[in-house]
Amino acid sequence: MLDFTLIENGEEFEQLCEEILIRKGIEIISKPFRGPDYGVDILASVIVTDKLGIKEKHRVLVECKNFAKSNRSVRESDIGNVIERAMSNNCNKYLLITSTTVSSVISHQLEGITNNPSIPLSATFWAKNDLDKIIHEFTDIKERYFLHKKISLKHKSTVLNEEPRINLGIHSHPDFAHELEIIIDIWNNNQKHVLFSLIRARRELETQLISSGSISEKEASYLANEMRKEAGFSEDDSIIQFCEKRLYGGPYHQLFASGTDHDEVPPNTATISLKFMRLLADNKKEKQPAIHSMIIQSILHVISTGIGLNAHDETRGCIMDFDNNMSDILYGLENGPKYCNPCKKQITRMGAKFLFMLANSSREYLNSIKTDSKTLIRMELREKRKELTGDKYDFDIALSFAGEDRDKAESLANALKERNINVFYDAFQKAELWGQDLYSYLSDLYRFRAKYCVVFVSEQYSKKLWTNHERKSAQERAFKENQTYILPIRIDNTEIPGLLSTVGYLNWNNESVTSIVNLIINKLENDRITATNTQ
Ligand SMILES: [Zn+2]
Repeated sequence: MLDFTLIENGEEFEQLCEEILIRKGIEIISKPFRGPDYGVDILASVIVTDKLGIKEKHRVLVECKNFAKSNRSVRESDIGNVIERAMSNNCNKYLLITSTTVSSVISHQLEGITNNPSIPLSATFWAKNDLDKIIHEFTDIKERYFLHKKISLKHKSTVLNEEPRINLGIHSHPDFAHELEIIIDIWNNNQKHVLFSLIRARRELETQLISSGSISEKEASYLANEMRKEAGFSEDDSIIQFCEKRLYGGPYHQLFASGTDHDEVPPNTATISLKFMRLLADNKKEKQPAIHSMIIQSILHVISTGIGLNAHDETRGCIMDFDNNMSDILYGLENGPKYCNPCKKQITRMGAKFLFMLANSSREYLNSIKTDSKTLIRMELREKRKELTGDKYDFDIALSFAGEDRDKAESLANALKERNINVFYDAFQKAELWGQDLYSYLSDLYRFRAKYCVVFVSEQYSKKLWTNHERKSAQERAFKENQTYILPIRIDNTEIPGLLSTVGYLNWNNESVTSIVNLIINKLENDRITATNTQ
């Protein structure tokens, strides 16, 4: 049984559920903000063909509940009135997904809904056991969420007496992890000079790599280095990572960047830009496996550079073509992974014939797969999901406070603005009523809008948060799950349930606006990726 406590928080669980649904062919319509009463996590649609061959489209309300850490089952009070919520979202199907179990009351309730002909709704649930079975169908999902980082060193045994001279870790990117595994198998079986392994990135690193925005060569190298260190590799080992961000070294987009020399810090890292690849794939008319071809050619290019071959400006449809010009790369793709004659001679002189083995087996592999439509679909879905979840933050800091504490918030907002911090404050001025719907408002902030949320903790704030009993547990959970985003400033001694005392509070009365601003700036500066997101 998979260990669901490895799932960090509700948000990550929701993301897991979403990926599973997508892979099961269910279309995600939207992920509405949580309502004031209970959550509506995902709206989806599924097309089912009946026995007559008639296609029917169903609208599904999906609710995700992750109580693995507390190991309690989902109770009636956790989900509220299913019928009402499904109907108000125009859904005729309801699915509850949980990482634990559901109470027998819920189980009966959902069955009753389905069996009642007067209710135009059918409902079911996936509990821990079901989820476990489903996840096992999707190896890459399982690996990313549940397995350890280093996943494919199985070929070590086939390398007989000879130790490989290059250890190369390749970032097991979610969109083509499976395909990478296949080609790595082939490569490891065809030569012994380079030992390829897949490396899984820690989720925070992966989030930085798969979110949009732009990143400099240097910053990308540092991310690669982090991933390599965590996977237990040394700086002598090489690593290749994939990044969705726009990669810049000069004024142009780049396909990839690499620090291959030992005087570069950190050395032996390479970053391949998927954004650039997508652009290329769009420019390609024929149904060739362009993405896989590009990935493979880029990897071979990096290895070749690493052992001392130089890229040439002249375009010869060679792995060593200087690969930043789109038309040149497209020309190279037509040819498949190959070395030109001058490069071949140099490789032979260097005694690096393993490169020919790699190129030949890659060509055979690419000829056999014909298309990379699956990867493209995954990449497109990721793009689509990005549109829905908006992974780029609009603001560095959002301020959340009760109307009574407006003067304090305003002084902080002004001071932050003076120091060029992108602060979310405007909306408060026009929305006196936001306190009434703080839960969905805050969810929105945490999940989509701001990097950090400064909360002014006071009696008034607490009163606005906990306006009724039912919301209490939902809000408490939201706070718990979003601890890393919340920077609490205490105005009085009110306790906010869900905000643990271990979270570093600042005390408004012991600080000045300037000292708070300085602390916030420190926090943001420690977070390298914030800088790379500002294009
Ligand atoms: Zn060449």
